[in-house]
Amino acid sequence: MRIDLHTHSNVSDGTQAPAQLMDAARDARLDVVAITDHDSTGGWQEASVRARMLGLSLVPGMEISCRTSSGITVHLLSYLHDPEHPGLLEEIGKSRDARLSRAERMVDRLSEDYPLNWDDVSQHVAPGATVGRPHIADALVAAGVVADRSEAFASILTSRSKYWVSHYAPYPVLAVSLVRQAGGVPVFAHPMASARGRIVEPEVFEELIEAGLAGVEVDHRDNPEPGREFLRSLARRHDLIITGSSDYHGTGKPNRLGENLTSPEALARIEEQGTGSSVVR
Ligand code: AMP
Ligand code: FE
Ligand code: FE
Ligand code: ZN
Repeated sequence: MRIDLHTHSNVSDGTQAPAQLMDAARDARLDVVAITDHDSTGGWQEASVRARMLGLSLVPGMEISCRTSSGITVHLLSYLHDPEHPGLLEEIGKSRDARLSRAERMVDRLSEDYPLNWDDVSQHVAPGATVGRPHIADALVAAGVVADRSEAFASILTSRSKYWVSHYAPYPVLAVSLVRQAGGVPVFAHPMASARGRIVEPEVFEELIEAGLAGVEVDHRDNPEPGREFLRSLARRHDLIITGSSDYHGTGKPNRLGENLTSPEALARIEEQGTGSSVVR
């Protein structure tokens, strides 16, 4: 069984529509795929229809951007939650609004030095999609300023850049608790991704586990090996679910579908705990 539980469509910063993402999953010989767009479940419907056509199993999911009180970014995957849960909807709605005004402010700053305006960026955002820095990167590529998203993130768009602006994001403890209230299964995404920014202290894991964290994404290209060992031992001690996934973004990132996989046992535990929606088969 080939199970990949972390992918993005153009409902956030992936480059393929949800149906095309399902086609790509089939071409990558996956048996099970999760769609986990940033702060949105807008791709679930289209993905379900296509997955059923293809005989592919789909786990409906989402990746919630969070920030700790010390300013560290945490990404939380949610599987099988109720997409209509009011508390969770309100939080991701706040984030999506904040992401839009934040991107506009970043473009304002960038436009002082680069040939770029908001129209150029919005061309790369599908209607209703969650806006992020990758869309600004796409506009910088189109303007010939950088070669690809990776180059943009390595220079102009890093959180250390003078163009960078922060945006509202819930505390991870709040997000974990809302995901559980919505019947979802919260899994800490790429917890050791130190190349992206500061990673959280061990105490934060304890807090999140206390709040109801179900699992940790261990096998992800951004987690260095020593960090994975820490996560495996944490998972053993607290009986957490271990997942492995690609974090595929289409052509937006080098990550390939199926480059990391989740075990059928881990998926079974996620399915057991998730009561807000169902795996599409
Ligand atoms: P934002 O949510 O606007 O802060 O942007 C972060 C998003 O950018 C993440 O979800 C990643 O998918 C994406 N990202 C981060 N680093 C890179 C990179 N080096 N190349 C392409 N995309 C990236
Ligand atoms: Fe992303
Ligand atoms: Fe992420
Ligand atoms: Zn992701």
